[in-house]
Amino acid sequence: MISRRVSALESYKTETSSARVKLSSNELSIELPQWFQRRIAEEVSKIPFNRYPDPESKLLKEAIAKRFGLKEENLLLGNGSDELIYYLSIAVEEFNRGVLYPVPTFSMYGISAQILGRDRVEVKLKEDFDIDLEECLRLVEEKKPALAYFAYPNNPTGNCFNEESIKAVRDRGVFTVIDEAYFQYSGKSWVEEALSRRDTVVLRTLSKIGMAGLRVGFMVAEEGIVKELNKMRLPFNITYPSQVIARLMLTEFYEFVEQAVKTTIQERDRLYKELSSMEGIRVYPSEANFILFKSSLMPADILHKRLLEKGVLIRNFSYMIPDCLRVSVGLNWENDALLEALQAVLKEA
Ligand SMILES: *Cc1c(COP(=O)(O)O)cnc(C)c1O
Repeated sequence: MISRRVSALESYKTETSSARVKLSSNELSIELPQWFQRRIAEEVSKIPFNRYPDPESKLLKEAIAKRFGLKEENLLLGNGSDELIYYLSIAVEEFNRGVLYPVPTFSMYGISAQILGRDRVEVKLKEDFDIDLEECLRLVEEKKPALAYFAYPNNPTGNCFNEESIKAVRDRGVFTVIDEAYFQYSGKSWVEEALSRRDTVVLRTLSKIGMAGLRVGFMVAEEGIVKELNKMRLPFNITYPSQVIARLMLTEFYEFVEQAVKTTIQERDRLYKELSSMEGIRVYPSEANFILFKSSLMPADILHKRLLEKGVLIRNFSYMIPDCLRVSVGLNWENDALLEALQAVLKEA
């Protein structure tokens, strides 16, 4: 009854254990101020919940366009960028051609390909977590993948890949998706390319800048591509509350977001420095709102468990990269709590 494609899947893994300090999902740690929560309540109370929302999310699209200096016709909105990843994996070429992405990376690229029965062309990142271009080009030649995903910066490694390597893959005729979920933390973007070419699109999201609860992502692409993908979009994919609240965030509230991002970047750089000076820890540079590090004194599984016992939840990535864990940048006191717990745990080793 259920296809083998689907029964072979595993449910999406995320760590849900409750902890005093939760630094596992790359959310923005800074909470919305009270006055903004009240503004939201006020606007939400006006929503006619018996009615469908605007299927085109016109007002929200307008707010996104204005905020990021884009045009509405270059935008497609999704229930999180996850939904847009599905759409792209469905829409680009035929399913007998594969999907290429470097590993380790964000899991949705592989999951969506697997659900569709598309070949997953995985290319292991080099030691420095940059793209192995030679191997990429060899696999492009051999497997002829239809599309490629590059998270920029990459999750969980935190770095931005070499631009020329991405272009070299794309210029072999591979439709290229640049996932800029952490754009606000890196300041680097492919939007110009996406607007001027038919083989490059950019994904963005509000999830990592304070609105993970809303599920709003968007694609920036050339108008013709937006038109085609819009045909397959589920009609009311952005809920009424999401349209209203996301618009508020972008119009009345964005200064707060920018300040919160700035604070997070400062905390990231502090956390990086502190972790670098710890014995038994090798830390990797990050252009996102999380940091990957390797534990050499203690197996990652044990370290992860000990930290949780001390009330600090981070993400164990050792199943993907030996001995590696990823920590999201938290509030000042949360990062201190992590550092303190880490110090205490490593002392036992
Ligand atoms: C978190 C993350 C996303 C998820 O975005 P949503 O808009 O919440 O679906 C997409 N891509 C990368 C690389 C991420 O880390």
